[in-house]
Amino acid sequence: MQTLKSNNESNSEAERRIERLSLHLNPIPIPHLTWNHHPLEMENCSRGKKLIVDANSLTSYMRGKYRDIQEKVFDYFNANPQLQTPLEISKDNHRELCMNQLLGLVREAGIRPLHYVVHDPAKYFAILEAVGSVDMSLGIKMGVQYSLWGGSVINLGTQKHKDKYYDGIDNLDFPGCFAMTELHHGSNVQGLQTVATFDPITDEFIVDTPNDGAIKWWIGNAAVHGKFATVFARLKLPNYDAKGISDMGVHAFIVPIRDMKTHQTLPGIEIHDCGHKVGLNGVDNGALRFRSVRIPRDNLLNRFGDVSRDGQYTSTLPSVNKRFGATLGELVGGRVGLAYSSVSVLKVASTIAIRYSLIRQQFGPPNQPEVTILDYQSHQHKLMPMLASTYAFHFATTNLVEKYAQMKKSHDEELVADVHALSAGLKAYVTSYTAKSLSVCREACGGHGYAAVNRFGSLRNDHDIFQTFEGDNTVLLQQVAADLLKQY
Ligand SMILES: Cc1cc2nc3c(=O)[nH]c(=O)nc-3n(C[C@H](O)[C@H](O)[C@H](O)COP(=O)(O)OP(=O)(O)OC[C@H]3O[C@@H](n4cnc5c(N)ncnc54)[C@H](O)[C@@H]3O)c2cc1C
Repeated sequence: MQTLKSNNESNSEAERRIERLSLHLNPIPIPHLTWNHHPLEMENCSRGKKLIVDANSLTSYMRGKYRDIQEKVFDYFNANPQLQTPLEISKDNHRELCMNQLLGLVREAGIRPLHYVVHDPAKYFAILEAVGSVDMSLGIKMGVQYSLWGGSVINLGTQKHKDKYYDGIDNLDFPGCFAMTELHHGSNVQGLQTVATFDPITDEFIVDTPNDGAIKWWIGNAAVHGKFATVFARLKLPNYDAKGISDMGVHAFIVPIRDMKTHQTLPGIEIHDCGHKVGLNGVDNGALRFRSVRIPRDNLLNRFGDVSRDGQYTSTLPSVNKRFGATLGELVGGRVGLAYSSVSVLKVASTIAIRYSLIRQQFGPPNQPEVTILDYQSHQHKLMPMLASTYAFHFATTNLVEKYAQMKKSHDEELVADVHALSAGLKAYVTSYTAKSLSVCREACGGHGYAAVNRFGSLRNDHDIFQTFEGDNTVLLQQVAADLLKQY
């Protein structure tokens, strides 16, 4: 290409490049910086213009009508420094602190997340965002209690379950788990092996772990605090049809796992601690094994399939696949929340990196102040597209949350499909982007980015698993591709 251009053209191009480069080597002098300035108010834009941002209006615009509830969360933790997570803390102490943080929010600050899960999901996700930026372990613990355990009871159960469990879940008298994943089956939920066999004589289900691979694994709230678990198991009706035992597919059951008074593990239940993790150590993940655990027939979360006293199975949905799809479809809220929370991690990380880059100076022309590192083009290339993406993801996930809230009201089939595909795609894309950006932000702050107090380590460790739970990103993208092909 270059050889085809006239000499004049290539000269002027070269001049332009030299002029650009010289701007970096000899930047327009900037006033001396002091630590008292708010970075965004400093007259340190490379072209010397004063940038004034009305932070209050921007905050109101971004947080919208949920600004107050988010500030209530921040005010509560600011007023209770004993509830702030210290830099150095053991796993066991972190778990206890995290439980106390959640109890404080619910019982002292009066924030009742389950109410919002049911009536105003957008407000619930806004609370989750604020809570996650205090300590991501707390955000995930809250998600386990309210989106997963609470959400499964509300969305997969019927009125009798709401009557019995709603208040206890809401006020944390009933801390609970969402026990789906097994040692041998994570992404492939249809392959789950735990069984719940109906016993028509006693009117109970018998929950069993048939082999080691079927042990429920990674279950949040199981190792220490949980009293109940929503257990996903294959519903079996002995001799249901002429061929013998009938497997009606994966259903959800409420299984008490610890005594309400003594907190002792109940007979037939074995609990194992999944131990110290790469991050999120405030969440007590555990493993559950069931040895012929009997639960009343009423503990089947029976919105999509039920068993009568005489052992007859009924469902409004015609096939195992349809029931499975409907069951998982009701649980999409967890994935929506994760996409939304991942953006909040990106907001925190990019804010720290950009603020630092506005006050950090390295190198400069002789006898002149050093240059702010954000004035280097390479640094801008690292952080400015990230800033733009953070805004884009904020609006994209806010839109997803709005669609999700509409879907919960209308149950419109098209909207259900739309939210499923959008949440899968956005969760995978945003969490992968945030995970990569956390490394970029750490590097952008140089050695100081490596100090634990500057948060990149905990943000990176806590967020990393966002790429895997609530649907592994690769598997989710396959689902998006399948959906696009179907539409085509
Ligand atoms: C900290 C933490 C908390 C958790 N909390 C809970 C909880 O409270 N309740 C609960 O039920 N579960 C929980 N989980 C489990 C989590 O949901 C699973 O780990 C997740 O669904 C992935 O399953 P897996 O670990 O079996 O990975 P796998 O499915 O085995 O995936 C392993 C790898 O194989 C790849 N892979 C899998 N299938 C395909 C395919 N078809 N094509 C191409 N590649 C594929 C994946 O991309 C991945 O890289 C938690 C996990 C962790 C680590």
